[in-house]
Amino acid sequence: MPSPEFDQLAQRLSPTAEIITDLPIDSDYLTDATPNRGSSPALIMAATESDVIEVVSFCHAANRPLVPRGAGTGLSGGCIPLNNALVLSTEKIDHCEINREERMAACGPGLITKQLIDAALAQGLTYLPDPASYEESTLGGNVAENAGGLRCKRFGVTRDYVQGLKAVLPDGKLITTGCYNASHGRTSDSFNLTDLLIGSEGTLAVITEITVELSPIPTPGDTLLVAFDDPADAGQTVTDIVAAGIMTTVLEFLDGDAAACSNEYEKNEGLDRVGAILLIETDNRAKIEQICNNNRASYLRIESDPKKADQLWKIRRNLSLAAKAAAELRLSEDVAVPISRFAELVGWVSQLNRTSKLRINSFGHAGDGNLHVNFMAESDTTINRELITRHVGLLMEKTIALGGTLTGEHGVGLEKKQFLHLEFNPPTLGLMREIKTLFDPACILNPGKLFD
Ligand SMILES: Cc1cc2nc3c(=O)[nH]c(=O)nc-3n(C[C@H](O)[C@H](O)[C@H](O)COP(=O)(O)OP(=O)(O)OC[C@H]3O[C@@H](n4cnc5c(N)ncnc54)[C@H](O)[C@@H]3O)c2cc1C
Repeated sequence: MPSPEFDQLAQRLSPTAEIITDLPIDSDYLTDATPNRGSSPALIMAATESDVIEVVSFCHAANRPLVPRGAGTGLSGGCIPLNNALVLSTEKIDHCEINREERMAACGPGLITKQLIDAALAQGLTYLPDPASYEESTLGGNVAENAGGLRCKRFGVTRDYVQGLKAVLPDGKLITTGCYNASHGRTSDSFNLTDLLIGSEGTLAVITEITVELSPIPTPGDTLLVAFDDPADAGQTVTDIVAAGIMTTVLEFLDGDAAACSNEYEKNEGLDRVGAILLIETDNRAKIEQICNNNRASYLRIESDPKKADQLWKIRRNLSLAAKAAAELRLSEDVAVPISRFAELVGWVSQLNRTSKLRINSFGHAGDGNLHVNFMAESDTTINRELITRHVGLLMEKTIALGGTLTGEHGVGLEKKQFLHLEFNPPTLGLMREIKTLFDPACILNPGKLFD
């Protein structure tokens, strides 16, 4: 629908950019993978870096808030428009230029993670960070959240592969950091601005290009599915594997209820009555089998054929869809604790599930001490939302008491800003706020996220 307010802006944008001013209130562009929903006068789909510069400059001049957005798979409410912010989608900026010799790729922020992996594979290389959402999430969102993934214990997270960035500051100026294109020599910044922007959750700048390192394709190891009667035994197995220094490519934990939830969605291996399972990819299966047996594993299956193993990985991959199908209201939180405290946290969550009116289960990239906790209610009522908020508070307090962190990989966004004081002391939080003010004195970029 035409709107005089945006007519002038439209003329400054490239022909394939779009401005949509009549977003329905139930539009996907007003939410993400959390139960939160915002409102916005317009969605702007930028098609080029110049479009981003124009939109940000327009907002700067008019003192209008805006929120950058990728695919909207975020799990902390990061791209939800607050304060009447415009939504600036970078999903159409999805170029991918691979330099085979340098093993680098320069990518638009809208490139889907899987598209980058597929393009790299076609050249005999790969991109190793693999968030479970990799078929949908964008690289811009991955960088803004510093996304982890199933193989992060072995291969690292997004931050470990980003060589440089191009980004538009809240006043519309374009900056380049690090090694910002696929043919630029590797560089070490004096001030590491690349790292400052990674994980900044769309609050400091709008990312317009990401240069990442590509890797040789690793040989797949064996897949192990191991079940335990007691979730604490599975947690202890994780601790023991890591403490023994045994390399795993993937080390995923699902508690009994998460396994049952996945099994309800698609029957697999009769996982409806286990205490917990571990899904492991490794090339050191003998030592791992021994540790599992020492910790009273009740079932162990080893699969060396990648096709058959893929069936087992479905148990983990299905989980988000399974939880969605099982409950009308669901909030998934991600915390991480030191590996030595993993078993304790897992046991605590199981206990909470037994005593709560909510259905609560946990799963995660256990090799990193990373635990996702699903809080689920059959109906979306105010009472259930309040109950979930109370339980989330308990989880945050427990995590900090165990020496952990409020977010393993999903970011702070809207969901966890009220808990930041539990983890960071006032001077640390003060410095973070000062950095935000330095970049964005008028606070037009993604207001209401990270801080109030
Ligand atoms: C089923 C499922 C599985 C998941 N598994 C994982 C996992 O294994 N590991 C993990 O880390 N996360 C996971 N996530 C969370 C989510 O997919 C990641 O956080 C992902 O990086 C978000 O990407 P996105 O493109 O959807 O970003 P969005 O949700 O659109 O945005 C996320 C944040 O990035 C900012 N942003 C987006 N684009 C830009 C840009 N161009 N410039 C600046 N800021 C920008 C937004 O403002 C927002 O703050 C999962 C989510 C789901 C639904």
